[in-house]
Amino acid sequence: KDGEKKRILIGMSNTGGGHKASAEAIKAAFAERYGSKYEIFIVDLWKEHTPAPFNTLPDSYSFLVKNAFLWRFTYEVTNPRLIHVPYLSVIGSFVAAGVHGALDKYQPDLVVSVHPLMQHIPIRVMRERIRNGVMPPTNFATVVTDFTTCHNTWFCSGATRCFVPTEFCRQLAVSNGMDPDQLVMHGLPIRPAFSRPLPPRPKLRRSLGMDPSLPAVLLVGGGEGMGALEDTVEQLGRRLGDRCQVVVICGRNKRLQERLRARPQGPGHLPLVVCGFVDNIHEWMGACDTIITKAGPGTIAEALIAGLPILLNGNVPCQEEGNIPYVVDNRVGAFETRPDRIAGIIANWLLEGGPEQRIEFEAMGRRAKSLGRPKAVYQIVDDLAALADEPFFDFGPAVEALAGRRAATGAA
Ligand code: UDP
Repeated sequence: KDGEKKRILIGMSNTGGGHKASAEAIKAAFAERYGSKYEIFIVDLWKEHTPAPFNTLPDSYSFLVKNAFLWRFTYEVTNPRLIHVPYLSVIGSFVAAGVHGALDKYQPDLVVSVHPLMQHIPIRVMRERIRNGVMPPTNFATVVTDFTTCHNTWFCSGATRCFVPTEFCRQLAVSNGMDPDQLVMHGLPIRPAFSRPLPPRPKLRRSLGMDPSLPAVLLVGGGEGMGALEDTVEQLGRRLGDRCQVVVICGRNKRLQERLRARPQGPGHLPLVVCGFVDNIHEWMGACDTIITKAGPGTIAEALIAGLPILLNGNVPCQEEGNIPYVVDNRVGAFETRPDRIAGIIANWLLEGGPEQRIEFEAMGRRAKSLGRPKAVYQIVDDLAALADEPFFDFGPAVEALAGRRAATGAA
């Protein structure tokens, strides 16, 4: 297919907002870097290409994750390889036809997964197709979109490459039997818009309908507007009055948006900007002094790039748990779930803390900026482009193929 457009199939599923955001970040960086040389297809393999009940995965996740006990149970029971490998193998026998269908439809030169449940089954189907001569040798890459703690199904030794965002994740991959040679660590793929310069803050604030000079807090709860956002607004209002402004991004939570819009405004009241799902979070982050958010990997990585001190107010059980010590131990923020105490911390950070606190707040912002990885998405995309151009998918452990390739090219 030399000279033709290369086709890249990115498998994702809308369980939370982060997988889709990562897939779109990769697509945008491909377009920016390579124009139309690569054609990118973002596909929800579970929803669009598997039969019932497997196609209800996103809905099942939304349901499970709202119940901490059920989610923890599902997560922990399936976490050991001894359980999930045979389990996925059984499910694979029901959904393989759908995966074959997707590969027939998109004829990819590279398959990329940005979802923990899209390694084992697609890799098995691809191997079978390659062995039967239905598909030319084609690489498979995983881009892990969790930040620290994550489910072991992310790591399948049959993948050609696995992109991990942090050292914590790299260690987890190794302890799951991945060869260090299969692993690459650049950072999370965050949309290119986050690495572009923004207008000066007062100008940016005016263009967003904010007060140009009041301290500003950004309040978000992931793509679904999760967490005690309304209580937090209430407590911030009580504690700060009109000395500070708050931007609330409600994501897809429409009811929250309506309730917040009904709050009183004017002198003495907390100045509030209420948004639904926005596609310019980078501008809102650039315009604010700090962020209050659940411990979502995407939002944390974005806030680091923006150099914002981060106040974590909760987390999805299991996969987001490690993000809390990551933020606290790297001294780029704090963790507090009670809205009244959250208001206290914000008051201290932005208004009442005195000169020492002011210096520490600015230091948190600088440390955040230095942990941010705005270039990661481009580095990932360059590596993926190389994988699309040079297939070396192996039938056995992909590591052997890598070793053979290195020997052939004479690399160390
Ligand atoms: N997001 C967005 N617009 C919104 C709300 C959220 O673009 O109105 C994006 C946010 O910037 C981040 C993603 O959705 O990239 C949320 O991912 P995260 O991993 O933080 O949490 P999840 O929603 O996956 O639990």
